[in-house]
Amino acid sequence: MTQAVVSLNSGSSSIKFALFTLEEPGNPRLSAGGKIERIGIAPSLAIRSIAGETLHAHIWADGAGLSHAELLEYLFAWARGHLDGHEIVAIGHRVVHGGTEFAAPCRLDEAILAKLEKLCPLAPLHQPHNLAAIRAIARLAPGLPQIACFDTAFHHDKPEIAARFALPRALHAQGIRRYGFHGLSYEFLIRRLAELDPVLASGKIIAAHLGNGASLCAIADGRSVDTTMGFTALDGLMMGTRSGALDPGVVLHLQTQLGMRAAEVEELLYRQSGLLGVSGISSDMRTLSESGRPEAEEAIELFAWRAAREAAALAASLGGLDGMLFTAGIGENHADVRARICRRLQWLGVELDAEANARNATVISDAESRVRVLVIPTDEERMIALHTLGVLQGGSA
Ligand code: ADP
Repeated sequence: MTQAVVSLNSGSSSIKFALFTLEEPGNPRLSAGGKIERIGIAPSLAIRSIAGETLHAHIWADGAGLSHAELLEYLFAWARGHLDGHEIVAIGHRVVHGGTEFAAPCRLDEAILAKLEKLCPLAPLHQPHNLAAIRAIARLAPGLPQIACFDTAFHHDKPEIAARFALPRALHAQGIRRYGFHGLSYEFLIRRLAELDPVLASGKIIAAHLGNGASLCAIADGRSVDTTMGFTALDGLMMGTRSGALDPGVVLHLQTQLGMRAAEVEELLYRQSGLLGVSGISSDMRTLSESGRPEAEEAIELFAWRAAREAAALAASLGGLDGMLFTAGIGENHADVRARICRRLQWLGVELDAEANARNATVISDAESRVRVLVIPTDEERMIALHTLGVLQGGSA
């Protein structure tokens, strides 16, 4: 019987999963994957083989009340009947927040779960759903090892100066500091870069994870030294529906002068701002590019301007720049947004090859460019699988 591990990424309205089989030591092979979407509205499930063939699909048209746990139970029951001789030996979870304590993936137990529960107020939109999936699986398959892989861990050892807000010391000691997220994605990118260009991988890199959520990470010799996301995943770049960095005075004004309640401010900053708020059209970059309306153009331009501005700040944190990496939905596919960002970074030595950029080639910088620019598809699920195996084998990936 072939062993397998499952990577799970449980969010507020979706659960993504991937099954990796372990024929070859240290090299998990993706065998199937899928997504449950629209949880809380009308959940739908699609499971696909690696060849893209649909293995199973289901829609719960009246399923608004179905919990993450109930949907996972359905998925588990389906998987049990269709494992084709595979034995699941562990489940790896993306856990958004590891706080100051968790610097590496770890096997979950009740004591660790209790510590992670305490971090829920720091990531209220993500952490509770991550933990709910872990508890649901513990009930469905007691004894099955579950491994937590933290989005904050890659940034855990960044220099202290990059972790501080200019707030009183007591608040820093209490955990109000800059953590950083998208760590599993950055870790995957840097491993992949080490295969593609080992010399560059030990240099000064800015990685741009540009999806619905978006951040940049300054990486020196393979380690995070600074990042645009901070205490929460709201900081830094403009995103699909999130504002990114904001004058904190705006938040005070919204509350004291406009009378908005905390929950309304949260809704505004997380779900009504960013590309959606500025364009008034959509949070989706592709839709905006196809729109032709001036508000859409303004939103795209602001997105690129903010990304370039933050990239320049990270170049200062790094004290130089050797390479840039683009990843996630926009970073991997949107040549125009990459070109807009890179044009603003020409003075740092970034020169794109327009033709390579247009076809989303791996290396998109010009041969003369001082800074090498690459497009690398991210694979957080694989990173979770690698970490899960690492923990099972008593080390790390
Ligand atoms: P998430 O953070 O939800 O995982 P993704 O990484 O899937 O997000 O990124 C979603 C964004 O990527 C959207 O703005 C979407 O328009 C953009 N995107 C996805 N595919 C393409 C494409 N082929 N061309 C241009 N933009 C794309």
